[in-house]
Amino acid sequence: MDRKVRVRFAPSPTGPLHMGGVRTALFNYLFARKHGGDFLLRIEDTDQNRFVPGAEEYIIESLKWCGLIPNEGLGFGGELGPYRQSERKPIYRKYADSLITNGSAYYAFDTAENLDEIRKEAEAKKEVFSYDLHTRNGLKNSLTLSAAEVTTRLQSGESYVIRFKMPENRDIVEEDLIRGRVSFNTNQLDDKVLFKSDGMPTYHLANVVDDYLMQITHVIRGEEWLPSMPLHILLYEALGISEFRPRFSHLPLILKPEGKGKLSKRDGDKMGFPVFPLLWKDPETGEFSRGYREDGYFPEAFINMLALLGWNSGTEQEFFSIDELIERFDLSRVVKSGARFDPEKAKWFNRHYLQQKSEAELAQLFLPILNEKGIHSDLQRIERIIGMIKERCEFVKDIWTQSHFFFQAPESYDDKTVKSKWKPDTSEKLQAVSELLETIADWKAEVIKESFSAFMTEKEWGFGAVMVPIRLALVGGSSGPDLFEICELIGKEKTIGRIRMACERISLN
Ligand code: GLU
Repeated sequence: MDRKVRVRFAPSPTGPLHMGGVRTALFNYLFARKHGGDFLLRIEDTDQNRFVPGAEEYIIESLKWCGLIPNEGLGFGGELGPYRQSERKPIYRKYADSLITNGSAYYAFDTAENLDEIRKEAEAKKEVFSYDLHTRNGLKNSLTLSAAEVTTRLQSGESYVIRFKMPENRDIVEEDLIRGRVSFNTNQLDDKVLFKSDGMPTYHLANVVDDYLMQITHVIRGEEWLPSMPLHILLYEALGISEFRPRFSHLPLILKPEGKGKLSKRDGDKMGFPVFPLLWKDPETGEFSRGYREDGYFPEAFINMLALLGWNSGTEQEFFSIDELIERFDLSRVVKSGARFDPEKAKWFNRHYLQQKSEAELAQLFLPILNEKGIHSDLQRIERIIGMIKERCEFVKDIWTQSHFFFQAPESYDDKTVKSKWKPDTSEKLQAVSELLETIADWKAEVIKESFSAFMTEKEWGFGAVMVPIRLALVGGSSGPDLFEICELIGKEKTIGRIRMACERISLN
């Protein structure tokens, strides 16, 4: 059977989307694009208790920022919707009923209190209770109660759930497209709830029914869902739709920078990096979590970095445009073991993409920062400045850190440099330099440099003894781009003014 490739990203709106979730979306997107297929967004919100307001909008905005635009799905149109599971409630019931009818599922009437008690008793015996083929015959369900009693209970409106009746001792063997052959024995699996007393399906039933109805051909999801796979396979079988069963692939975990354990928000807070694509404000606590976007990452850098968390092209190449990723992506090159996240590498990618941008593009991105500070300058000048300091920048915000002195006089002078380079005769020397500068008519870096060199040769002063203090006067520190270029861009009057100002301020101390 040759079906059009259709994959889905199926997040639950329980909070901000973790970067691992974005990677899942990315791999689905790449796979779909590579195979000329469709990429869907489905919101899995059957667990109403875990619903967080704003999470759904956050997911959609994150995908848009990353450029991972679904062909179909919530907020993106499509024929097979609705794409929000809570709006599909009436659809699931008939599938649950058909499982009851064919004996693959059963009603269970055990109350939460009952089960809690049993769980505690088991704990006391150092055992773990599980509702499964070993215990179900001693519990309150349609397998143990008479048909008449089940009918009475149902008719009286007693609360119940529908559980899957896990078959006995069957090996479920599947070729995962990333992990290869994986096998499970059903004796180890429990009778999962498929349908809840509130009339909502659980994740398992809704997920399988929707993958079927939305004609999904490949399920690409995080490794935490691997234990659910045998149940899902059995559900396809029990629903009589095995021929439409998608192929499964389970992506490796994203690990902490230290390499052990799953990357969490706490790691980000502790070490100062974002684990979410966008800034998020928790609607309950008001607490903020930083985002890649607001931290100044370019979406292409974020995507490039994510693509290499668990996938490689088999070559040394590390920089990939989205089109190259689409062309090269292959599930067979996704690794099984966890992928260690390196926050420094993320910055390194951003640096690369910043260097790729033209001065004109960067100037447009930098203008809002200048405007916010009330600074207005001519665009050509800004572009030239950016050209001079770009290579020192990882983020657009670094442009300001590296270039503020072009726009405003330094407010203070680096202490260490003052102490080591400002000698008792420095002011006097700088006064002489400023007199020389006054005489230069053609205020160009080249010309200033020539006059200055001739002057220094004549005076027989060491270059360092004068250059460093001038730099200090102009930029406030001891590093930065070429000094004479700085002079030219600041302008004659301001250059001389800053030198005189530094002499006054520093000599006073
Ligand atoms: N709703 C699940 C999640 O939040 C989807 C898992 C799957 O893709 O099957 O990740």
